[in-house]
Amino acid sequence: PAPKDDAGRRTYELDRAHVFHSWSAQAALDPMVVTRSEGSYLWDADGARYLDFSGQLVYTNVGHQHPRVVKAIQDQAATLCTIAPAHANDKRALAAKLITDRAPEGMNKVFFTNGGADAVEHAVRMARLHTGRYKVLTQYRGYHGGTHLTINMSGDHRRWPNDNGTAGTVHFWGPFLYRSAFHATTEAEECERALEHLEQLIRFEGPESFAALVLETVAGTSGVMPPPPGYLQGVREICDRYGIVYVADEVMVGFGRTGTWFAVEQHGVTPDLITFAKGVNSGYVPLGGVIIGDHIAETFAHRVYPGGLTYSGHPLATAAAVATIEAMADEKIVENAAEIGRTVLGPGLRALAERHPSIGEVRGVGAFWALDLVTDRETKEPLAPYGGSSPAIQAVLAEAKAQGLLVFTNYHRIHLAPPLNVTEAEVKDALTALDVALAHADAVYTG
Ligand code: PLP
Repeated sequence: PAPKDDAGRRTYELDRAHVFHSWSAQAALDPMVVTRSEGSYLWDADGARYLDFSGQLVYTNVGHQHPRVVKAIQDQAATLCTIAPAHANDKRALAAKLITDRAPEGMNKVFFTNGGADAVEHAVRMARLHTGRYKVLTQYRGYHGGTHLTINMSGDHRRWPNDNGTAGTVHFWGPFLYRSAFHATTEAEECERALEHLEQLIRFEGPESFAALVLETVAGTSGVMPPPPGYLQGVREICDRYGIVYVADEVMVGFGRTGTWFAVEQHGVTPDLITFAKGVNSGYVPLGGVIIGDHIAETFAHRVYPGGLTYSGHPLATAAAVATIEAMADEKIVENAAEIGRTVLGPGLRALAERHPSIGEVRGVGAFWALDLVTDRETKEPLAPYGGSSPAIQAVLAEAKAQGLLVFTNYHRIHLAPPLNVTEAEVKDALTALDVALAHADAVYTG
């Protein structure tokens, strides 16, 4: 509903009249007017305060309005608002160094983009030029962006209305024991069968047709599914065997979300390319990019890379990245994400699962968690259909909001993506709100 506050209502009416929103039927929208934010909280136009565990779109890694990042943007604006990509600039150069310092060994260059989808687009372009091949492997239950290529690469229902089958993408099943595509009963079995399936698929599609395999290190929007031990190493080996460029899409999980700077660190693998965006500067100014392995950078040492963007490495965005990364390092924000997940958020969600039968599974790592909500634990019937919603999940979300908690949601799932510097007290408040909200899911439980 429109806010009661006059200025808030005016914003609401202008938005409804003129703003065309993403992924939505426009007539059905009812956006919340947000007027300010700080740390883990934001406020609506009528002054109600919300604990923001949505991360907006899982990107506010240092929380809202971090003073160091805000000041860095202000200072940069006062000095050099913009400069074309061809010039060198102190913040762009330093951001690239700070990013590559945290990437695996042998990845020393960054190509900056404006966000995640164009990072993935450029990673694929690099892989195609590097290999001289065209096709791209991606997994079902994955998301890589909203552009023509990246939506075709995505393995969720948003591809369907955009699919024209020409982008050269082939989908495979990744490991996901809770809803196993392989009838596996253990993580080890799931891992082994998923790798076998991937290799078979490559053999039958033509191993020499694939330029790249693009994989979210922890699939995010599709359900927060940390891969079993050994899976990513297996993927690395398969890519090596068939000369396929391994692109780790860390747009959602990079910069500490899972409790390490990059999630690949926890799996001991070095991809050929890493895509990032979101958390690199907490989304304060649009920024993304590709971290490039030395052997691929070498391909373009004496050969033109045929790609670019007007705002590649924009000074306001890269100044925000420098301040974000330095604040994260100085304030031990990545360590906090790991610790809060291990000691408070993970155990707290598991305790909720003991009280609420509608929680089919709790999954996650660091400051990145999902509740897989079901109407029956035996059949694992989701609380909302694939690609859709249901009155029950809507009731859970509405109650969470009434309790002052914002979460990220996808189909039948609730995702928790708090700022990585969230406090224990804030996590406990969120758990209390969820405890109340989940009664609406339990109410339709039939198991
Ligand atoms: N890749 C992953 C893993 C994502 O989660 C997203 C966005 O959610 C993207 C790519 C696309 O990023 P953007 O929306 O910045 O284009």
